[in-house]
Amino acid sequence: MLEALEPQAPDALLALIKLFASDDRDEKIDLGVGVYRTDDGATPVFKAIKQAEQKLVDIQESKGYLGPEGDIGFVHALMPRIFGKNATMNGHIEGMQTPGGTGACRLAFALAQKAGVGRVLMGVPSWPNHAQILADVGLEVMTFEHAKPDGTANLDALLGALRTAGEGDAVLLHGCCHNPTGVDYSAEDWAAIAEALADSPVLPVIDTAYHGLGQGLDEDVAGLRTVLAAVPEALVAYSCDKNFGLYRDRVGAFYVKAKSSEQMDAILSNANALARANWSMPPDHGGAAVRLVLRSEDMTKVWLDELESMRKRLRWVRDRLAQADNEVPGLDLAPLGRQNGMFAMLPLDKDQIQKLRDDHAVYMAGSGRINVAGLTKGNMDKFIGALADVTG
Ligand code: PMP
Repeated sequence: MLEALEPQAPDALLALIKLFASDDRDEKIDLGVGVYRTDDGATPVFKAIKQAEQKLVDIQESKGYLGPEGDIGFVHALMPRIFGKNATMNGHIEGMQTPGGTGACRLAFALAQKAGVGRVLMGVPSWPNHAQILADVGLEVMTFEHAKPDGTANLDALLGALRTAGEGDAVLLHGCCHNPTGVDYSAEDWAAIAEALADSPVLPVIDTAYHGLGQGLDEDVAGLRTVLAAVPEALVAYSCDKNFGLYRDRVGAFYVKAKSSEQMDAILSNANALARANWSMPPDHGGAAVRLVLRSEDMTKVWLDELESMRKRLRWVRDRLAQADNEVPGLDLAPLGRQNGMFAMLPLDKDQIQKLRDDHAVYMAGSGRINVAGLTKGNMDKFIGALADVTG
């Protein structure tokens, strides 16, 4: 029976991690894996999370089951940060905890399908797992170009796709810090998107996995808020794995904007049933720690400071790369300074990417995506020199 299963190609990034680990050159640079790194190349546990975890050990009285919705205190504590002061939009927004942003995406699309969505409009390139999740859920995908060659968002492509779409369609939007391009919609773009969606039956699904890593906590969700204010219904997939550094603890949330409280009850009962059949309930620990951080003024301040230092560091890397435009004549690096978050696409061909690896021990995804957080004061000049070498 099981011999019917054909071997699947290994995840390309996981294969890259292995290659990087087995490279014994001291100067090697890892720009592949999507985790934040400090200027020392570390991915430390946030101080705010350590404090919350310590408190959790002291005060947690039980590890008995919660429901499929997980830690609802965590879900609610996040809401003002995402949706603003009127966080429920007068009772129109509610959510549940999920295993990471991946679980939230999975739940959003499975629920959309149950509600009658058959096709999802998706800007490409996108986070590779989006396509995998959509295929696994059984949804058709219609792609459009996300970014123009000049490194800005292709708004016309999105609006054009929306014009051809209709009942039974959803559109997947990245809230901020687009993965893999770093190219976000401008405030004017978001206003146009909201206007188009307000007049359309297309269901918006907004994936927000890097909140706070772009321009700022409020700035990064301004577009999401513009869309939510304009549309009667929307789904939001949210991850705390980057902005609280909780990657392996799998902390995420799924939110719905619904037309009425009766509809909200029906929608959430379906989301609960899907969660129950998929993972029963989300892991508790990381979400509980985030709840404690967000309910404590002191720990929130520690967290906000940590997030700000991440943001500043990512900005420093981007500015330095943008300035290196003249040092690497073969490559247009200037747009990186105007883009956001942890990722950028370098228009390198396969040979150049291979040469970076072979000659300079620089590891990046085969697509040319780099994790800008892999660059530090210590390795930046070497990286720019390597780029100049392979593109010269
Ligand atoms: N959406 C996007 C765009 C992402 O880049 C990621 C993480 N790589 C996720 C969702 C999922 O994040 P998590 O690790 O919380 O599942």
